[in-house]
Amino acid sequence: MNKKVIIIGSGFSSLSAACYLAKSGFEVVLYEKNKTVGGRARQLIKEGFTFDIGPSWYWMPDIFDKFFADFGKKTSDYYALDKLSPAYKIFFADDVITIGDSMDKICVEFERIEKGSSKHLRKFIASAQENYSIAIDKVVLRPGISPLELVTKETVLKVDQFFKTISSEVRRKFRNPKLISTLEFPVLFLGAKPSNTPSFYSFMNFADFGLGTWHPKGGMYEVIKAMQNLAKELGVQIHTNACVEKILVENGKTTGVVSKGNKKHADFVLSGADYHHSETLLDEKYRQYSESYWAKKTFAPSSLLFYVGFDKKLKNIEHHNLFFDTDFEQHAEEIYDNPKWPTNPLFYANFPSVTDVSMAPEGCETGFFLVPIAPDLEDTPELRDQYFDLIMTRFQLRTGQQIENNIIFKESFCVNDFIEEYNSYKGNAYGMANTLLQTAFLRPKLKSKKVKNLFFTGQLTVPGPGVPPSLISGKLVSELITKQNK
Ligand SMILES: Cc1cc2nc3c(=O)[nH]c(=O)nc-3n(C[C@H](O)[C@H](O)[C@H](O)COP(=O)(O)OP(=O)(O)OC[C@H]3O[C@@H](n4cnc5c(N)ncnc54)[C@H](O)[C@@H]3O)c2cc1C
Repeated sequence: MNKKVIIIGSGFSSLSAACYLAKSGFEVVLYEKNKTVGGRARQLIKEGFTFDIGPSWYWMPDIFDKFFADFGKKTSDYYALDKLSPAYKIFFADDVITIGDSMDKICVEFERIEKGSSKHLRKFIASAQENYSIAIDKVVLRPGISPLELVTKETVLKVDQFFKTISSEVRRKFRNPKLISTLEFPVLFLGAKPSNTPSFYSFMNFADFGLGTWHPKGGMYEVIKAMQNLAKELGVQIHTNACVEKILVENGKTTGVVSKGNKKHADFVLSGADYHHSETLLDEKYRQYSESYWAKKTFAPSSLLFYVGFDKKLKNIEHHNLFFDTDFEQHAEEIYDNPKWPTNPLFYANFPSVTDVSMAPEGCETGFFLVPIAPDLEDTPELRDQYFDLIMTRFQLRTGQQIENNIIFKESFCVNDFIEEYNSYKGNAYGMANTLLQTAFLRPKLKSKKVKNLFFTGQLTVPGPGVPPSLISGKLVSELITKQNK
């Protein structure tokens, strides 16, 4: 008889692991507490408007391709992809930078801002490309068990890049503050300040300028639907509205879970829910990491999010828009060093209906706004409204239009919802940051040291935050479980 694995959660990492484990011959049953699958990447459909609740940047298309190829499939078997042109736009207080869909176009834009910068940019991106190949081919596919995993002949040659920061590296090559912010933006996906992120992570700049920004027609949720369909094709059973209340342990080994008061037997349990929460499902003696361990970690930011339906098409915007028209240093300090509601935050605005008419009713615009904030902040309706007004004012000023009277509806999502909906530690949005001391073998482990046959996956473990790393995390943990089963 096939061994049974119970998976907790249905985010990208859980769905990825479910597919690999089913392919390896396990009986796989997945329990998701919410009524739909997808976790942080769920979808909101309201009055004909379609919103991705969480991720909207489809970067590193090669990782998605590899995932589906592992099952003899192609992404195009499930969804259509468009390369966005331009990739995105950045609004500064005195200028707008447009990031095109090729290095040539981006170099022209860099030259416009800083003469001679395109030569440095090409060199920087060439080195970032080398880092990308090393990271993807040699480093990221390791399970984070031993420091030796980071030691390859390629990483040894780049060892200095683990001790220099992306911030210092970018400042060495570029003088213009707008170009510096542009080049520091991609590592924000890793959840830490650029001045706290190793320069080896410049591979994110290659992902940005070299590989481009893509959009699955219908939105990111199409990828979740694709993985859900693939999982079902492989025989995975998916239960929604099925919260797991306890992970069962007998004689140091897990024997299953309790969901809705009923015991469910399994040979292996894999949790893709937030790591901290997953451990609270165990009796205290079986937890590997104490409350003080988690409290000391650098968490990626939380977010204040708005999903807005507009009754007209908006002007002067692209699919992805960054509003970097205020002081980044101050905002970063208010997230990481001195956590509080930001004085004058940077924000991100996404209008998928600019390039994909399926995402809004005709003549309308679907708007998603994201303000990064520190986790664990007080979250009240008044604060949300105050920040909505603040970003609307800035949005109108920078894009030169009035939109306040064109709002059909607005929904919001913030710290309290991250906790309520996902059992997120302190309401974090993107898990644990990838700082030097929270990289690879220094992250919470995929395999429990205290309970046999219990495993973890997702953005709080290896490799880290983001959709592509979550796909990889699911693959890595499924390999460990398969090995353990031999
Ligand atoms: C606002 C936002 C924007 C983002 N933007 C991007 C982006 O543009 N590009 C990108 O690559 N990444 C982005 N990310 C990050 C990316 O979405 C995440 O890294 C990824 O989706 C995490 O997947 P996961 O499987 O680790 O966790 P989750 O998606 O959080 O999945 C965990 C699941 O476990 C379930 N669960 C929790 N407790 C239980 C329980 N007791 N029983 C049963 N189920 C339980 C939860 O409901 C959830 O479904 C963004 C994230 C957010 C929040």
